[in-house]
Amino acid sequence: METRSRKASLKRELRALLRSMDFIADRYLRRSGQGARKFFEIYRQLGSAWKFLGLQCRHDEGYRRNREGHDLCRICGHVKGVAENWRLLPVAGPIRLGGKRFHSAKRDFPNKQAAMIDVGVIHFHGTKLSVEVHNGYQSYWPGRKEPINIATDRIVRLWEGDVECWLDSNLVHVKWKPTGPRPHKPPYGAFLSELPRKMLKKFPVLLEYDHRDQLVGVNALMAPHRKKKGA
Ligand SMILES: [Zn+2]
Repeated sequence: METRSRKASLKRELRALLRSMDFIADRYLRRSGQGARKFFEIYRQLGSAWKFLGLQCRHDEGYRRNREGHDLCRICGHVKGVAENWRLLPVAGPIRLGGKRFHSAKRDFPNKQAAMIDVGVIHFHGTKLSVEVHNGYQSYWPGRKEPINIATDRIVRLWEGDVECWLDSNLVHVKWKPTGPRPHKPPYGAFLSELPRKMLKKFPVLLEYDHRDQLVGVNALMAPHRKKKGA
């Protein structure tokens, strides 16, 4: 009910705003000289108000075709297919941006750009989050001629201080930025069972398991030298 009344008031406000724009355009924009410039500025400001008011519209009453052949939203006049450059977020309550999407096609695409379904980065109160959803595509390793197939995936990455948390369909990967001089070799990787005990003693990693011996969590304690402000 509340949504319906909000939509009705949005429609009213948009209609009044568009009437004001028409009023300025019909009466004053055809003049020349100093006066016209002032009214053009008013018209431009009303245009900005239209753009931001239109962000509340979900364009859910369909489109009408204008004389130029463009499809315009029946409520706010947004041209169908034109990207909107701003998003409207609530101040109170959970902030929702976009929906959860997964790969959709069965075939592989010729490159990453064509395979991309969703990609976005947000900086939020000092942390950075990125989401990338893509179909399968062909890629090339540097120095190799044969293409390799990159599988469909949904990759979520979160950066907080020196730590990056990477989640995809197969992996939960937590990475720390190496301290000290930049290492010239990529890091090694090994299963716990492959590492000698004296090495394991240096890694503050705790595995959590349940009464059925199933792995239910991994805790990596923050090493003391990494505990700093802002991390
Ligand atoms: Zn609309």
